[in-house]
Amino acid sequence: MDSLDRVFSHIRGERIAAVTSDLIKISSINPPGNEEELARWTADFMKDMGMDVMIQPVARRRANTVGKLRGRERKGCLVFSGHLDVVPVSREEQSAWRTDPFQPVIEQGRLFGRGAADAKGGAAAILCAVEAIQKARIPIAGDIMVALSADEEGTMLGVRTLTGSGVLREARAVVVAEPSDNRLCLSSRGQTSGWVNIDGQTAHTSLQDAGVNAIHAAARFIDRLLGRRPSHQPHPVLGESYWTVTMIHGGAGESIVPDSCGLHIDGRLVPGQNAQQFWDDVETVLQEMAEADDTFSARINILGEAAAWETPPDSILAETAKRAIQKTLGKEPEVMGFPATTDGAYFHSQLGIPVAILGPGSLSSSHGANEFVSVEQLEEAARIYAACVLEYWNTEGDDGKPPDSSRLFPVPEQ
Ligand SMILES: [Zn+2]
Repeated sequence: MDSLDRVFSHIRGERIAAVTSDLIKISSINPPGNEEELARWTADFMKDMGMDVMIQPVARRRANTVGKLRGRERKGCLVFSGHLDVVPVSREEQSAWRTDPFQPVIEQGRLFGRGAADAKGGAAAILCAVEAIQKARIPIAGDIMVALSADEEGTMLGVRTLTGSGVLREARAVVVAEPSDNRLCLSSRGQTSGWVNIDGQTAHTSLQDAGVNAIHAAARFIDRLLGRRPSHQPHPVLGESYWTVTMIHGGAGESIVPDSCGLHIDGRLVPGQNAQQFWDDVETVLQEMAEADDTFSARINILGEAAAWETPPDSILAETAKRAIQKTLGKEPEVMGFPATTDGAYFHSQLGIPVAILGPGSLSSSHGANEFVSVEQLEEAARIYAACVLEYWNTEGDDGKPPDSSRLFPVPEQ
C-alpha cells in the first residue's frame, strides 16, 4: 500500500459526518459569534492528535484556533483554513427548515444543519484529514497548519487578527475550505462598501421648487449609476465588476424638503481591480452630475475593502491541488472562480501567499433553509486535503515513524 492509500484507509465519511455534527451542535451564530467554546473544542481535538495548538483571542468570547503538525524539515507551512462561525437562522427561515438546524440529522446520505456546508463540514474534513495522516503514521516533509477563524461571516476580525499576528509567518500556501462542491477555485471576487451622502437644502414643501431635494437628487444619481458599469475590464472567469445600492436613508419630516440622502453601495471587485478604482468610477458619476447641476453636492465615505485575488494555474499550490483531485476522484479537476469573498482575501493581501478555495457542500445550499452537505463529499474533501499534503510535501523515503510534534509556539494558560 502506498502512503496515500494508507492515509485513505483512515478516512471514513461517517467519522467526518460525526465531527461535523459535533461542530454544528456548539453554537457559534454570528452575530454575536461567541466562537470561544468551539475554538476550545477544536483545540482539544487537535491536541489529541498531537498537534501544537494555540487559541488566539480575537475579542470578548471570540477566538481563532491554530494547530500545527511538525514535518521532518523546516520547509514552511501548508495551511488549511476554515471558519468557526455560522450565519443566523431568521424567524422566516426557521419555518422552512424540516429539521432543527442546530440538531444535525443525516438522511439519505445528506447531513442537514446550519453550517453543514458553510463551513463546519469543511472544517471537519480538514481535522479528519490531518487525523488520518497521523493515524497512518506518514512522515511529512513540511509542516501542516490548521487555522480556524472567528467572524468570517462578519467583518473577518478573526482572519485579520490571524494574519496580523505573525502566527502564519511560515505559511507558504493556503487551502480555504469554503463550499465549492470540492471543485478547485483559483480566483475570487473582492468586495468593497461605502456610503454616498447626497446633500440638499430644507424648505417647506408647500412652496413649489423651494429648497434642494436630496432624495430626488439621489434618484437621478441611482439612475445614472445603474446605466453603466465600473470601468475595469471583465475577468475571464469571474466576469464583470458591478455595484449594487443596498440601503437608503433620508428625509427630515413629512412636509420638509429633505436635505440629505445616504445610499449604501456594495461593490464586487475582480482580480486586478482595487477599491480605489471602483470608487473613482463612482466619483466620476458624481462629478458629471455636479457639472450639470450646481445644486448637486455629494461625498463618498468608503467603509472597507476585501481584495479580489487569483492564483496562477501553474503555481505549486494549483498543480498540487489538481493532482490531489485527480488522485482522489479519478477525473480531471474543474477550475472555477469563487463568487463570494472569504478569509482567502486576507491570506492573499496580508501574507502574499497563493490561495485555493476547495471544500465540500455548495454555496447554493449555504445561508438558507435545509442547508446540507453530502457525506460522500465530506469524505472526498478529506481525501483531497490529505492528498494535497502528501503531494505538496512530496513524501519520499517513508520510514513509518510518526511526525515530530515538538512545540512551535507556546500554549496559552487556560
Ligand atoms: Zn463560509
